[in-house]
Amino acid sequence: MTTPEQRDAAIREAGYNVFALSARDVLIDLLTDSGTGAMSRDQWAAIQHGDESYAGSPSWFIFRDAVTELFPFRHVIPTHQGRAAERILFSVVAGPGMVVPSNTHFDTTRANIEFTGAEGVDLVIAEGRDPANLHPFKGNLDTAALDALITERGHEHVPVVMVTITNNSAGGQPVSLANLHEVRAVCDKHKVPLFLDACRFAENAWFIREREEGQSGREVADIVREMASLADGMTMSAKKDPLANIGGWLACNDDALAESFRNMLILTEGFPTYGGLAGRDLEAIAQGIREAVSHDYLRYRIQSTAYLGEALHRSGIPVFLPIGGHAVYLDARGLLPHIPPLEYPGQSLSVALYKEGGIRGSEIGTVMFGRQSDGTEKPAPTDLVRLAIPRRTYTQSHIDYVIEICQAVAEQASDLRGYRIVEEAPQLRHFTARFEPLT
Ligand SMILES: *Cc1c(COP(=O)(O)O)cnc(C)c1O
Repeated sequence: MTTPEQRDAAIREAGYNVFALSARDVLIDLLTDSGTGAMSRDQWAAIQHGDESYAGSPSWFIFRDAVTELFPFRHVIPTHQGRAAERILFSVVAGPGMVVPSNTHFDTTRANIEFTGAEGVDLVIAEGRDPANLHPFKGNLDTAALDALITERGHEHVPVVMVTITNNSAGGQPVSLANLHEVRAVCDKHKVPLFLDACRFAENAWFIREREEGQSGREVADIVREMASLADGMTMSAKKDPLANIGGWLACNDDALAESFRNMLILTEGFPTYGGLAGRDLEAIAQGIREAVSHDYLRYRIQSTAYLGEALHRSGIPVFLPIGGHAVYLDARGLLPHIPPLEYPGQSLSVALYKEGGIRGSEIGTVMFGRQSDGTEKPAPTDLVRLAIPRRTYTQSHIDYVIEICQAVAEQASDLRGYRIVEEAPQLRHFTARFEPLT
């Protein structure tokens, strides 16, 4: 617990960037659901079973079999987290002159694409950009726009199409199976491979089971296998749905591509049977993958996120609808219409939540996405504050406190002011930028 005075001092010292806070000064940490979940008894038991052989560890085979049980790709390449898989993928297939379409690229994905000199393009359906629209699959990719883009740029300049499930940067919204089939058809037409950024595959499959016609009786694991069967490969952060604190993987079917990936892996991550992870981590991930597709777990997970989102919605706070799987996204532009996007309403709201109640959320808006690769700045499509829910970590009374603090901040909305950036890095500036309040 901290006092308002302590929080004022802490956030000022942090340059008004919640990433720079010491976690000890945070009461409820909703910065991310990445690696912040509580591992289960069976995961801790699996850790004791870890074998730390450099090459060919038994833990590697347990990991590989758990991955291919759901994602039957020919090649599975472990990495220390999702962005390492992205860096290997794009350093092999992208580069200057290339364009990589997605529904919405996650921040590290976009940065790894741009770092190679390629361009990332977001093609989520129009409904997905409207925070109030109730479309059941707002993560869907606009396949007509995809077809037009590949035709215009030429398929030789599109090394891969990515689909992010669920669509983290645009409200954590799911992608339907029907949409994945349509994306597959466009990729086949142009002979371009399709990769999934599958961090929240289990939550996405749960939404398919709940919302998509004809899917309600199916096992989540079976839906996941169908999603995988439509793709040529995937990138993964095991810190999300696989319920681990660290890890990831890259997978594909193409032998030549896999060889290039492995060579890059050996150079920067480690040998292909551990990829920057300890044997015990591989075991924790393998067990987590199995738990992630449990219907009881997923029902609890999705309902507890909805509990927060629906309470905020009922109190008149603008939230991204429908409520996503892993997070509730506050619509900062809607709550703070007096702060223009280039004065960062999302930043203002995230600082206010911290000052009011020690809650840490993260801006997903113009701070994160405003800086263009040509150096100019423009408003992101939306300015959101993401309250990500760590898996199996907080109780309902913690969440009730979050609801009260959000309501208190909403009551002072018209008093909140914008910010300006006084220091920023060339890529992924939101992690380290320093701000000053505007008066
Ligand atoms: C977290 C995440 C990543 C990157 O994974 P890390 O393990 O944080 O490197 C990529 N894509 C999406 C959609 C994510 O949520």
